[in-house]
Amino acid sequence: MLLPSFDYYHPQSLPEALSLLGEMGDQARPLAGGTDLLVNLKLKKLAPKVLLDLSGLEELQGNGTDEGLVSLGALNTASRLASGGPEVPGLLAMGAGSLGSPQVRNRATLGGNLVTARPAADICLPLLALGARVVLAGPSGQRQVSLDGYFKGPGYTVKEPGEILTHVLLDAPRPGVGGGYQKLGLRQAMEIALVNVAAHLELEDDGKTVALARVALGAVAPFPMLSPGAAQVLQGAPAGEKIFTEAAEAAAAEARPIDDHRGSAAYRQDMVRTLTLRALRQALSQAQGSKEEQA
Ligand SMILES: Cc1cc2nc3c(=O)[nH]c(=O)nc-3n(C[C@H](O)[C@H](O)[C@H](O)COP(=O)(O)OP(=O)(O)OC[C@H]3O[C@@H](n4cnc5c(N)ncnc54)[C@H](O)[C@@H]3O)c2cc1C
Repeated sequence: MLLPSFDYYHPQSLPEALSLLGEMGDQARPLAGGTDLLVNLKLKKLAPKVLLDLSGLEELQGNGTDEGLVSLGALNTASRLASGGPEVPGLLAMGAGSLGSPQVRNRATLGGNLVTARPAADICLPLLALGARVVLAGPSGQRQVSLDGYFKGPGYTVKEPGEILTHVLLDAPRPGVGGGYQKLGLRQAMEIALVNVAAHLELEDDGKTVALARVALGAVAPFPMLSPGAAQVLQGAPAGEKIFTEAAEAAAAEARPIDDHRGSAAYRQDMVRTLTLRALRQALSQAQGSKEEQA
């Protein structure tokens, strides 16, 4: 399959990219890793006249920590996130490491995953559980949007066509905080999840009571969703099997899967229960491990 023809621009700064995007409107599309966009061009699902390569934008590169807040640039590849580091929460590294294949991970970016907004996206789910905010730059400046209000439907978010996602903001990893990521596919690798679950747990100083919890569910709604019921069950309770089982039940009750050619709704709902339980166990072990390391 051949790519259709298009004009190619390689802006060297964010203002230049925003100005080009503003001038060309619907005719132009930002290009990051290309693992979604180029496939859609080849399949003739999209036919932009212009591609704006984002790789020259310094503003979208790199990571940093400031006053307990981590900033991750939109051009971080899945491989880079998967290899961890002081700014990358373990939960995000797990999700990024499960995306596609090594070749895809070397190209696929954080920003591309968030803009593509697939219901089972492997970077979106951990970020949702981590309480992340995205920063969107547009013609009239920057705005921050909590991920919990960002997704609107498959491939559809609150981002306006003239905006560029520049980075993501998160609480910095700290002791007593842990995450768990579980992905079920029809194959072991190169697979979009049939169901995926990301769990984030923050423990009180006693190392047992849940101070804060978020459980994000993938492939069981039109976009990555949080389970408020699971969070409510967990918050303030002693972390352990009893409460995790109740939270898994709450998550399964809130999931909204549909039957499709890859699996039935009933099977997906069962798997939400199982994967939530496993993700919470994993999150607890990571949270307690990080507390012991600190001691
Ligand atoms: C073989 C294969 C396997 C895959 N497996 C998985 C998987 O297991 N899990 C998974 O989650 N995904 C998977 N994907 C999908 C894809 O790799 C990811 O969604 C990836 O993160 C997209 O990032 P990208 O940088 O390649 O985006 P691109 O393809 O460059 O862009 C995607 C869209 O986002 C827009 N965009 C990109 N960056 C920005 C930005 N900073 N600001 C504004 N708009 C932007 C583009 O205009 C385009 O509309 C797979 C894809 C392939 C081809």
